[in-house]
Amino acid sequence: MRFAALLLLLAGLGVAAAPAVGLASGRELPERYRRPPWSKASLTVGHPNAGWQARAKKLRRTRQLRVKAGSEERVYGHPALVLMLRRSARDVARSAKGAVMLVGDLSTREGGALSGHHSHQSGRDADVGFYALDAAGKRVLPEAFVSYGADGRARDGSGLVFDDRTNALLLLAWAKDQRAGLRRVFVANALRRRLIAQGRKLSGWEAHAAAVERLLEQPENASTHDDHFHVRIACPPGQEAICREESR
Ligand SMILES: [Zn+2]
Repeated sequence: MRFAALLLLLAGLGVAAAPAVGLASGRELPERYRRPPWSKASLTVGHPNAGWQARAKKLRRTRQLRVKAGSEERVYGHPALVLMLRRSARDVARSAKGAVMLVGDLSTREGGALSGHHSHQSGRDADVGFYALDAAGKRVLPEAFVSYGADGRARDGSGLVFDDRTNALLLLAWAKDQRAGLRRVFVANALRRRLIAQGRKLSGWEAHAAAVERLLEQPENASTHDDHFHVRIACPPGQEAICREESR
């Protein structure tokens, strides 16, 4: 009897899972996307948490940007995302001399499920570490993501401090960036309050305050994000038929 019930349950799961086959997991594309110019383009397919990508671009280190150890094979994304990260790292370093951005996972080369994440499947998500200062106020580049409390102090006892100004500059750079189609920035509420308070002191903030607020909206049940920003770009133009904006 129990065995029969289990079979029934499995059959039920099979039916429920059926709609997932196709675009998201079957790696099939509509005819139109198998022909030029799309057959040569970087494509982001499916949902952020049930998707994949084709012909992704790899994020490489620059003078202002480092890839976190362990993420080297997980920094593939749509070019709009990869180029935006490079631009914003450069932008921030212009106003905050010596600032280096630490980037963690984007997606794997072909996308799909990525350990440690729900999303990051379709090349539109990236994790970016916070800029940090040491206890003396000197700029430091941590090797890993560091989690901070509402007081801006590292929770790991390292003495690191959340660099309010530089992190707010980064947020401003993202809000100003029209090219990438940045859609969301996930960050813990306590840190978001610090960023907005600090941002108001930056020149040029006022003009972009509404854009910052839009980016910081949290429609999904995102986890805490007190050790990194999670950013997501929108579906690229022309890919609406294969790309799904939100997680399912
Ligand atoms: Zn993330």
